[in-house]
Amino acid sequence: MNSTVNDQLRRLIELQQIDSKILNKKCMMDEIPSKISEAEVPLKITQADLDKMKQSHESLEKKRRDKERQLEDINEKIKKLKARTAEIKTNKEYQAHLREIESAEKERYAIEDEILVAMEALDVSSNEVKAAEAKVISEKEKVDILKRKLDEETSEAKKELTMLKEKRAWIVDALDRDMYSQYMILFESGNGLAVTEARGEICQGCNMNIPPQLFVEIKKNEEIIYCPQCYRILYYSP
Ligand SMILES: [Zn+2]
Repeated sequence: MNSTVNDQLRRLIELQQIDSKILNKKCMMDEIPSKISEAEVPLKITQADLDKMKQSHESLEKKRRDKERQLEDINEKIKKLKARTAEIKTNKEYQAHLREIESAEKERYAIEDEILVAMEALDVSSNEVKAAEAKVISEKEKVDILKRKLDEETSEAKKELTMLKEKRAWIVDALDRDMYSQYMILFESGNGLAVTEARGEICQGCNMNIPPQLFVEIKKNEEIIYCPQCYRILYYSP
C-alpha cells in the first residue's frame, strides 16, 4: 500500500509543479496588455507634445502670412499716395499728404519688424518640431521593440502551455480519481497551491510549524499527509 501512496504523492508533486508553471505562464500572458499600455505612456506624452508644437507652428505661419498680406496692402497704399503727390495744389495739402505717407511708412516698418520676429520664432519652432518628431520616432521604436519581444514571449509561452497541458493530462490519468478531485479542491482553496514542501518543520504553504511527530511521518514521503493548519498536502524534499 505504501508504494502506491508514494506513487500518488510523487504524481501529486509533479502535478503541482506543472500547475504552478501553467499559472505562471498565464499570469505572464495576462500582464502583457498592461505592460504595453504602460510602455505607450511616454509615446502618448511625446505625441501630444508634438501635436501642440505643430499647432503653435501653424499659428505662427498664419501670423506671418497675415503680416505679409498687411505689408502688401501698406506698400500698395504708399505707392498710391506717392502717385497722387503730383496732383496736390496747396502747400497745406502737401504737408498733410507728406504726414500721411510718413505714417504709412512707419506702419510698414512696424509690420516688417513683426515679420522678422515671426520668422525667428518660426525658426525656433521648426527646430522644436523636428526634435519632437525624432523623440516620437524613438519612443515608438521602443514600444515596437517591446511588442515584438512580448509577441515572441507569448508564442513561446503558448507552445510551453500546450506541452505542459499534455504532460498534465498524463499525470492526471495516472492519478487516483478521488485524489485528483481532492487536489483540485485544495488547488482552488489554496490559491493555486495544493501540494507543498514541509521544510524545516514549516509548511511552505501557510508558514505554520508542523508538529515534530507529524514531520517525522512527512519525511518518509510514504503517505498523503495534510497540513493541520491549511490542509495542503505536504511532502519532504531531502
Ligand atoms: Zn499549511
